[in-house]
Amino acid sequence: MVIIRYSSTTGPAHGLVENHIVYALEGDVFGTFHKGKEVGPLENVALLAPLQPGKIVAIGRNYAEHAKEHGADVPQEPLLFLKATSAVIGPDEPVVLTPLSKQVEHEAELVLVIGQRAKNVPEEKAWEVVLGVTCGNDVTARDLQRSDGQWSRAKGFDTFCPLGPWIVTHLRPEDIGDLGITCRVNGVMKQMGSTRDMIFPPARLIAYITAAMTLFPGDLIMTGTPAGVGPLKAGDSVEVEVEGVGVLRNPIVAP
Ligand code: ZN
Repeated sequence: MVIIRYSSTTGPAHGLVENHIVYALEGDVFGTFHKGKEVGPLENVALLAPLQPGKIVAIGRNYAEHAKEHGADVPQEPLLFLKATSAVIGPDEPVVLTPLSKQVEHEAELVLVIGQRAKNVPEEKAWEVVLGVTCGNDVTARDLQRSDGQWSRAKGFDTFCPLGPWIVTHLRPEDIGDLGITCRVNGVMKQMGSTRDMIFPPARLIAYITAAMTLFPGDLIMTGTPAGVGPLKAGDSVEVEVEGVGVLRNPIVAP
């Protein structure tokens, strides 16, 4: 099943997509819902970020090759940080650069969407709390990440968290284990990895995070980025693709 959020005549609404046709989602996207009336062809609908998350838990250095490219050690345990929810934008919305940074970079990531309240979830039950997955771009002011010594500002600028284009709910844990994750800038491949290269796979991340904090429906886990991160400049078009999920495209604009 594919769940979108779109701009309806009455404001943001969730919808279901079948064969490129959008239907209204009636009910609660995190509870029980069913397919409502037809809205129209997918290409006529203005997609929004697939949800406005309650919190975004992100994972640093979860791919060994990416840790290496920054000269960082491979972590012994998941390295958590929180990314500002005010940074969220949807497909095709511009990422606005900041005059405070000379080095803004893309990070293509698989994003887990939490579907139910979760605390102390064992790895073997982790998938039960996941509604689905989407694509994310953990846009980062790399120079500020280094100079600040912690990451909240560098990864928290407005527009630095593109999400979408939708939530795919039908992938199973065995599907998630080997999905291609790519990033293209102006059509040129920059990152090309696979979820099989994650140091800590999704189930381990859910267990680790929920041992510390309760996750709620609509919280997100950004699972880290493979090697190949690089700079973005005004005028670029950046695409994050997760195999079997979709393509998230955003233009880059000057501040
Ligand atoms: Zn990241």
